[in-house]
Amino acid sequence: KIRPEEQEAALGKPAGYDVSVIRKDFPILGDVTYLDNAATSFSPEPVVDAIIDFEHNYRANIGRGVHRLTQISSQRYWHAHEKVAKFIGGENGITVFTKNTTEAINMVAGGISWNPGDRIVTTVLEHHSNLLPWRALSKQGVIVDVIGTDSSYSPDLSELKRVICPSTKLVAVTYASNVLGVVTPVCEIAKICHENGIKLLVDGAQAVPHMPVNVSDIGCDFFVFSGHKMLGPTGTGVLWMKEPSIEPLFLGGGMVESVTKDGFTAESGYKRFEAGTPNISGGIGLGIAADYLEKIGMGAVREYEETLTNRLIEGLKKIPGVTVYAPDCPENRIGVVSFNVEGFHPHEIAQELDENADIMVRSGFHCCQPLMEYLGLNEGTVRASIGMYNTMHEIDLLIATIEEIVQ
Ligand code: PLP
Repeated sequence: KIRPEEQEAALGKPAGYDVSVIRKDFPILGDVTYLDNAATSFSPEPVVDAIIDFEHNYRANIGRGVHRLTQISSQRYWHAHEKVAKFIGGENGITVFTKNTTEAINMVAGGISWNPGDRIVTTVLEHHSNLLPWRALSKQGVIVDVIGTDSSYSPDLSELKRVICPSTKLVAVTYASNVLGVVTPVCEIAKICHENGIKLLVDGAQAVPHMPVNVSDIGCDFFVFSGHKMLGPTGTGVLWMKEPSIEPLFLGGGMVESVTKDGFTAESGYKRFEAGTPNISGGIGLGIAADYLEKIGMGAVREYEETLTNRLIEGLKKIPGVTVYAPDCPENRIGVVSFNVEGFHPHEIAQELDENADIMVRSGFHCCQPLMEYLGLNEGTVRASIGMYNTMHEIDLLIATIEEIVQ
């Protein structure tokens, strides 16, 4: 008699990973095939319940009083930071809640004290959010060097070694591309940075929802990601830092210990960087999202999504007229799959998929115009991005629908 774990293994699923059970937690999945997870993911019922619980039962501001409701609210919000820190192996650092990845990167760009002539190295793979905040520092005389990729779409490390110089203060690199799905060698990059006394910021927006992440193992100085892409509520993100090595960008209530006529003493820890009333229910919900993923196991999520990604890439590649832009090696990629269909604008494909098959994908430049230019893709791409609740059936439906469109 075949045991259920063996059956699952035979289907290419990690033992214990039951997507039909997982899907029950996401009633929004309903009749649509959602393959736009790189933009934002859906939230499971425990996250939605946590937000409703806050609104119905203990909505109060945090850290500002002694009454019962503020006590509950504060404790749950603070506890969420601990859960998220643990989820990324960052208990030894400072975990700040932000609105999203973009805000977190801007906080680092605006919080480091720059000198004219300082240099930052980034890559051509980056989302606009990991480029524009650095470029804006040109007003302070900071220079940005952008390195290219090798033939497997990974940042060109020999170019990195060539461009870094004594003025290089920071390297800012994505952990996983939101266009090509390539996973970058962040540990190797961290080693190069530290050998040269350079700080490293890793944009983990596309990595955290799809693979085990340990910021301490990476050895980065800053790690940023979006809560809303990892099953958390919208309006949530995280800035993790090894040490409080930046100045707070936002000043005001909540981030001060005391204020006098002439100055103020800032709080320590993450509170120093969270001025004003935060997204309290969002933060609490993000903690629940981390719990949810941890319970399933990020290793299992990674393994499961890899089987779907492999099927999608192989299936699309077989269709005449379809070009797929993805690394060949499964270990070096996540389930973000860009492709084009000859004779069609990416928006036409996305619209056809929605109207004729209820499949939601993204099309266009994906906030990565310099990368599109680098790849010579004037109209961008169609992008299907997989989440932990997608099924093999949905992948096959996408492949079959593209086949039909081509025919
Ligand atoms: N970095 C990467 C790699 C992304 O994929 C995204 C969003 O797609 C961002 C940054 C920006 O995230 P947010 O819109 O949550 O700030």
